[in-house]
Amino acid sequence: MRNRLSFSVPAVLLALACSTPTTPSAAPSSTTTTTTTTGAAPAWYSKFSSAVTVSIDGSNVLLRSTGVPDHTSPYWGVGNALYEAPHAGMQLNPNRISTQSLVLRVPSAPTAATPSDTPMEPMGIAVNGVALFNQYAAGRSPLTNEILSFDRFNGHPQQTGQYHYHLEPLWLTARDGEAALIGVLLDGYPVYGPRESGGALPSGLDTCNGHTHTTTDFPSGSYHYHVTTSVPYISGCFAGRPGSIG
Ligand SMILES: [Zn+2]
Ligand SMILES: [Zn+2]
Repeated sequence: MRNRLSFSVPAVLLALACSTPTTPSAAPSSTTTTTTTTGAAPAWYSKFSSAVTVSIDGSNVLLRSTGVPDHTSPYWGVGNALYEAPHAGMQLNPNRISTQSLVLRVPSAPTAATPSDTPMEPMGIAVNGVALFNQYAAGRSPLTNEILSFDRFNGHPQQTGQYHYHLEPLWLTARDGEAALIGVLLDGYPVYGPRESGGALPSGLDTCNGHTHTTTDFPSGSYHYHVTTSVPYISGCFAGRPGSIG
């Protein structure tokens, strides 16, 4: 990759962005997976697609996926059945989508906590099994340049080939509606689209991009995040005690 001299400086910067401090798929989880117990995850997890394996492990919901999108993208690479040409103005980064071993453990009964920073690795998972990333590029810098590399569904892969969304997953909101469940963050709180079920924009979002009220999925009310068109886009912090990756 590094001898491809045709890359412009911005492309190199894009290639270096989204670095993760550790290999996300290297979790030695064999000892913990043997303790997995059977049981039903909360009902709203049924909205996750078959690309996500949902199970219960003690007090956590265990979500596993290969992390690849169920839609077209230039990042599949020419020759792949899901390849499509970059859209006008898109600055393709040099990375390509590859299969991951994405494992998230999230509390099945989330608990509010002092807001905490989201990590520079998956902070959640979308209903189609794609990782959700935070509002930062490498070095916790703004996404300004990276946004140019997003495909038309707001995703792109980082160096390990892990495809992810930093912004509204437009594939999901176009398919399921702007009030649909988008996914879950590591703290166990759900993420919804940019609108409430009645069509209104969400009001009173806190610094983490969430608020509490009743929804179809939570008739008794629950804290939840909404994706927004401005920073932090999905979530600016965890409002609850986060679970873990791997
Ligand atoms: Zn990224
Ligand atoms: Zn809401």
